[in-house]
Amino acid sequence: MHYLVTGGAGFVGSHVVLALRDGGHSVVVFDNLSTGHRAALPPDVPLVVGDLSDHALLNAVLESERFDAVLHFAALSLVGDSMRVPFRYLRDNYLNSLQLVELCIQHSVRRFVFSSTAALFGTPEQQPIMENATVNPGSPYGESKFMIERVLHWAEKIHGMHSACLRYFNAAGSDPAGRAGEDHRPETHLIPLAIDTALGRRPRLSIFGSDYPTTDGTCVRDYIHVTDLANAHLAALEQIETRSVTYNVGNTTGFSNLDVIRAVERVTGQQIDWHPADRRAGDPAILIAGSQQLRAETGWTPRIAALDDIVETAYRWRLAHPQGYDSAPSARDGHEEALY
Ligand code: UDP
Repeated sequence: MHYLVTGGAGFVGSHVVLALRDGGHSVVVFDNLSTGHRAALPPDVPLVVGDLSDHALLNAVLESERFDAVLHFAALSLVGDSMRVPFRYLRDNYLNSLQLVELCIQHSVRRFVFSSTAALFGTPEQQPIMENATVNPGSPYGESKFMIERVLHWAEKIHGMHSACLRYFNAAGSDPAGRAGEDHRPETHLIPLAIDTALGRRPRLSIFGSDYPTTDGTCVRDYIHVTDLANAHLAALEQIETRSVTYNVGNTTGFSNLDVIRAVERVTGQQIDWHPADRRAGDPAILIAGSQQLRAETGWTPRIAALDDIVETAYRWRLAHPQGYDSAPSARDGHEEALY
């Protein structure tokens, strides 16, 4: 099969590109490289450097090749940031995706996989969060993703386009073979920050909030290895041959922020210098996935489920890439850009 992957140079997107290629498929990546990295992609993957708001360019790409499905990752994706600039999130994520969906329909793309988020559940009373739990976004980021889920609902109802909305919990770790990793700038995610603190590459780590209603007062998250998450996309692609699906993708186990610190200390053998700080706006106290539907309907199951194993893959990549993707000049130089 031949797939278009928007945001394919980002953290999750690049791991999905690897999983698709490992599965024997061909891929074209569309990415503006605002947060993604050229070097995150195998050199022979065609990369279109462009913005999703560029209607003419997107149209040219969809016109020139026939794609069996589009996988859509390109988006603003930080909960805390979305509490600062809400309308940027609500506008850009929504409008860019709406345009992409419309173009897919115009070019007869029958299948669409959307990277959605657990952030659309807000702070639910029931944990784990089942796939049919009430949606009540706790941030403009979560809201923007839900708005796109609604677009896809109508794209199916009226145009018959099948979609998979995959509601990610906390993607973490890196490709076990070391081909890709996590490199956000600035980095805001707990596991890479904790690893860099352990490695002495950054100062003291702030832990946001110590008075949440959890066992140790810090937030609880469900960490899912990014390669397991990537494989869920392949499973979902099969399902949407005939219908649309919405799945939670997580490990079904929660770890507090202090559990994460202890795991990083075990894996690195170093003590982490951290201090309690104020809560971060928009953070729900607990997010744990109920992923029953995904498991039952596709047979998908996480292979790297233990937190220490997830951290271990992230640690190995960061050890080998002290400057993130800037430490991989050969991959960057060898990459060809596709022009439309
Ligand atoms: N967190 C923290 N200090 C940091 C970064 C994150 O305490 O420097 C916390 C954050 O408040 C949340 C958890 O770690 O409770 C996971 O946050 P992350 O940004 O990794 O992922 P998110 O849950 O926002 O997708």
